[in-house]
Formats: sequence, C-alpha cells, structure tokens
Amino acid sequence: RTSRAFSSLDASKLKIERCATPAQPPANEALVGQWGRIFSPHMLRVDWTASDGWSAPRIQPHGPLQLSPAAMTLHYALQCFEGMKAYRGDDDAIRLFRPDLNARRMTSSLQRLAMPTFDETAFVELLKRYVEVEQEWVPRGEGHSMYLRPTCVATDPFLGVGVPQEATLYVIASPVGPYFPDGFKPITVVADTVNVRAWPGGAGDTKIGGNYAPTIKPVLDAAAQTDGRAQQVLFLFGDDHRVTEVGSMNVFVVLRTASGVELVTAPLSGDILPGVTRRSILDLARADPASVGVDVVSERVFTMPEVVAASREGRLLEVFGAGTAAVVCPVREVVYQGSSIDVPTGGGAGPVASELWRRLSDAHYGRDASGWAVAI
Ligand code: PMP
Repeated sequence: RTSRAFSSLDASKLKIERCATPAQPPANEALVGQWGRIFSPHMLRVDWTASDGWSAPRIQPHGPLQLSPAAMTLHYALQCFEGMKAYRGDDDAIRLFRPDLNARRMTSSLQRLAMPTFDETAFVELLKRYVEVEQEWVPRGEGHSMYLRPTCVATDPFLGVGVPQEATLYVIASPVGPYFPDGFKPITVVADTVNVRAWPGGAGDTKIGGNYAPTIKPVLDAAAQTDGRAQQVLFLFGDDHRVTEVGSMNVFVVLRTASGVELVTAPLSGDILPGVTRRSILDLARADPASVGVDVVSERVFTMPEVVAASREGRLLEVFGAGTAAVVCPVREVVYQGSSIDVPTGGGAGPVASELWRRLSDAHYGRDASGWAVAI
C-alpha cells in the first residue's frame, strides 16, 4: 500500500501550460466540410492511477499521447467518450449546454467499464476553465460552436482482461459550423433487420467506443442496398422490430392518433443512449406540448410494423433524428424489408422538427429562460 494520499479530481489544482505561439482560429468559411478535423491549440489532461487517484489537471498544448502498444484501451476497447458543445451567444458570452448531463453520462460509461469515475462538478468546472483558455476558438455566428470531446482511456501496459490500474482523461476541442449550412437536408435511412446495435444487458446506454466501430459496416451495406441513397442505419431490436436509434442520434416520430398528434421516442430501457438532445426535446415538449405542435408526448416502445401501418393510413407525419451534432436531422425515407416508406415532409423538416430545432437553438445560445446553457 502506498503512503501517498489518494486524490479525487480537483479543479483547484489545475495547471495551465500555454502554447508559445498558439495557432490562430480558422475563419468560419474554413470550417465547412471539415467537421471534427480541426483542433484547438490546447488539451485538458488528467492522469489517474489506482494507487494515487487523479493527478493535478493540466491544460497543455494539443499533441500526441504516448501509449504502450500493450495499453489496455488498444486491445479491449477500455475507452469511453462524450460529445458536447460550447456556444458563443450574441452577447459574446460562451455557454455549455447541460454539461451536468454529459458529466453524468461519462461517469456512467466509466462505471460500466470498471474504470475510475470522478466528481462531476469538478469535471464541469475543468471543462469551463478549458473552454476559457480556448475561447478564441469558439466561433461566432448562428449554428457555429466548439465541439468538445472528453475521452478516457485505460493505459496499463497489460495484456489481461481486467480492472485498469492506470487511465488518462483528456478533452480536445474542435470548432464546427452548422450541420446543415444550406437548410435541412433530410436523409434516407435503412431500417436494419440484420445488424443489432445493442441488446438487453449490454452496454448500449453508454458512450463507449466499442458501441461505434461495429456500426460502420452496416452503413456501407445500407448504402449499397439503396444505390447510395441511405446515409444512416435505423437500428431495430427484437422479432417485433422495435425502433431504437438512428446512426448516432436518438429517433423521434410524429404520428396522428385517436388522441391527437403524438411525439414518440423509444424508452430508456438500457439499449439506447440517453441523449442530451432527446432529453431536452422531451422536457420542452412536455412542458408545453401545444407550443411544439403536438398533443401527446410518449416515451414508449414502437415498432416498424406500427410505422408502416401509420404510413399506409396517412398518419405518419414526421421522422427525425436528434443529437448534439445535427440538433435535429429530418428523415425523408425509411427503407424497410425492401420497400420504401416516404415521410411526407419531403425535402425539408416538418413543423414539429423545425420548431424543436428553433427552440433548442435558442436554448443552446442562452436566448431562452430554460437556464440549460451555463456560462463558463
Ligand atoms: N445515440 C447515440 C448512439 C449517439 O452516439 C448520440 C450522440 N452522443 C446520441 C444518441 C445523441 O446524444 P446527444 O443528444 O447527447 O448528443
């Protein structure tokens, strides 16, 4: 046993080592088509060992990590991450959107991997300090933001499958433009009856790298199957073809039912990611359903046969994905068992998706009274 004190994550111990000559942030035009490829000059880094706990956090120049080729993360995917954004408002203040929810989801992912967790308040404080150092890299302009990628990797040079004793937590940042710079571009998706993303008792409700690598080939297959039309896979589960998620977004449908217009999304039953955007849409819609154009808001199981029936009866009004990257992403066509379901919103977004997008954008930039956007 060591005599050194075991340390929890402590934002007050932060040390900042700035780049001698930091790069200048790119102009907004240079961000087009470059999503996730441009990085700010610094990174936040905190190392952890089972004996000492979390080291003093550091903001340091963005650069390569040195890892043993035996590092556990490289072999057994002992790795998890987050995706969130810092937004610059018209008032020039920079805000994080519901960062407590990302902190909570990250500790839940870490727990699932038997990796070290941390104090969520300290983590959010460190995110704020990091964004403050990178503030010039938070672009100005509607739809622009700085994407943040917190990541934690197990670094033990150990070829056994076991509980990691060493880890590195880091955060990198990437300035990004609007997902749809020229207005919504609805996507085609294939409802996949072969590949399964997650299952009961699995880890589909955590943001671990291991959930993502196996989703790439299904997208290639979906594209091949639709002469290149499909850009994403709608993942299903079970013999009844329950709808779960679309690509790396939660999915919503709008149906006309006997009780009015219903906004529906799959429940959090362990097999879908608890999206921050999903949660915010549910919160907004439940607080005042009429204000987003619906009568009923449901987290419930829904199946492809139900979507097909609604479409046949003219009751399928909208389908859209929801996530941090695109905010909302309208779906125009769902290919299922060789047939095509056309969503009547065609080349644009439907009224519910459009209104939710507007309301979420207001919340991101601190233009509403939700209080979700937290100034750094
Ligand atoms: N589902 C999956 C599988 C995802 O990767 C994401 C993106 N994090 C989402 C849903 C949407 O989550 P959020 O709204 O928090 O970005």
